[in-house]
Amino acid sequence: MDLKSGLPFWLIKNGLSTNYKRLENDIETDVLIIGSGITGALVAHFLCENNIKCIIVDKRMESTGSTTASTAQLQYEIDEYLFDLIEKVGEKNAVKAYKMCLESISTLEKIVKDLKIDADFKRIPSLYLASDAKGKKDLEREFETRKQHGLPVEYLSEKQLVSKYNIKRIAALYNNESAQVDTYKFCQAILDYHRKHSGLEVYSHTNITQIKSSKNTITATTDKNISIKAKKIVAAPGFESESLLDEKVMQLESTYVLVSQPMHPEDLWKEKCLIWETARPYLYIRTTEDNRIMVGGFDEPFQDPKKRDALMDKKNKDILKRFKKIFPESKIEMDFYWCGTFGGTKDGLPYIGEHKKHPNMYFALGYGGNGITFSVIAAEMIKDMYLGKQDEENIYRFGR
Ligand SMILES: Cc1cc2nc3c(=O)[nH]c(=O)nc-3n(C[C@H](O)[C@H](O)[C@H](O)COP(=O)(O)OP(=O)(O)OC[C@H]3O[C@@H](n4cnc5c(N)ncnc54)[C@H](O)[C@@H]3O)c2cc1C
Repeated sequence: MDLKSGLPFWLIKNGLSTNYKRLENDIETDVLIIGSGITGALVAHFLCENNIKCIIVDKRMESTGSTTASTAQLQYEIDEYLFDLIEKVGEKNAVKAYKMCLESISTLEKIVKDLKIDADFKRIPSLYLASDAKGKKDLEREFETRKQHGLPVEYLSEKQLVSKYNIKRIAALYNNESAQVDTYKFCQAILDYHRKHSGLEVYSHTNITQIKSSKNTITATTDKNISIKAKKIVAAPGFESESLLDEKVMQLESTYVLVSQPMHPEDLWKEKCLIWETARPYLYIRTTEDNRIMVGGFDEPFQDPKKRDALMDKKNKDILKRFKKIFPESKIEMDFYWCGTFGGTKDGLPYIGEHKKHPNMYFALGYGGNGITFSVIAAEMIKDMYLGKQDEENIYRFGR
């Protein structure tokens, strides 16, 4: 499946890795990770930190799946309101999921510092705008729910929004715990670090088409009939799980993004906050290091890449129109655009861990619009599972 089309900004900005090779001979390892996107890279990071021998394979050039298409807003708030999630999965699990997402941003920050990675990681506040009267009511309820559970959140009235941010919306939630990053650069930097310091091997253009498990080992075979024998396999195939998992757990959506020409800093909003809104589908907005505006949204149920791509021109116009409703005076002009596919689940939470039909495998799947925080959670949990520290109350388990 084509995961994306158009010109993802990060790929143009950073270029392709020159550090790649194909797998050409049979090989053995402790853990085979399928997928070199941000999820696979983070899994490798935690395994390498624990001296566990692992290799990564990817059927594409490394990290060029959804990770290149991501706008990489790092928010603890997920697509489901906390009060809705409580109804779906219970108070304990919902609050736990929100707190794990909050913690995961600090984990990412720590990785950036520990590995001395320069990937434009920046702590930046987030504004969640009410799109209409119902949105305002939902935000009021969400504010109370999050406050009750000790999550960082402030409520901004219409007056405060105008005076502080010159944004004409009737209410918003604000928090100072979000961040943004260049995920593609970040992902490549993690892989490069562990190639250099931990002996990690990464093979691109290596497509796993068959997996066979026996009692204590598992063997993956590529489309070129090369085999990889391991103790465990971690499947981190992003939104293409169909060839590896015998169950449909994600509903796929297409989303559209454009990036503006560089703006004068004084033409951007205060604090360059991350912005999103209560309308569904929602518009999501951030800025880049060189003061471009990155804005996306107008998601559609995914049918096929051709239909998704045919809508790009129309979606660009729709996105610009809606952006101008929030910032009527903006002189935004488009420079690049692309679209991508992502997948959500019925309760907004990912699937992480073992599946009864796939022995000796761990999965990390289905993360919705704020997938990167879930990638961090998945990577840490899978490392623990491998080390035998099983979480008996895995709230992300299959069959929940
Ligand atoms: C436009 C867009 C905007 C987004 N914005 C945000 C955001 O603001 N914040 C956020 O947190 N998240 C966002 N997301 C989601 C986020 O980008 C994803 O959750 C994340 O990139 C998924 O990373 P991944 O490593 O799991 O998947 P990928 O990056 O897709 O990596 C999976 C890799 O597995 C490989 N693979 C699959 N099957 C096989 C196989 N059989 N053999 C070998 N290799 C295989 C693929 O080639 C691919 O490279 C966005 C997504 C899109 C598309």
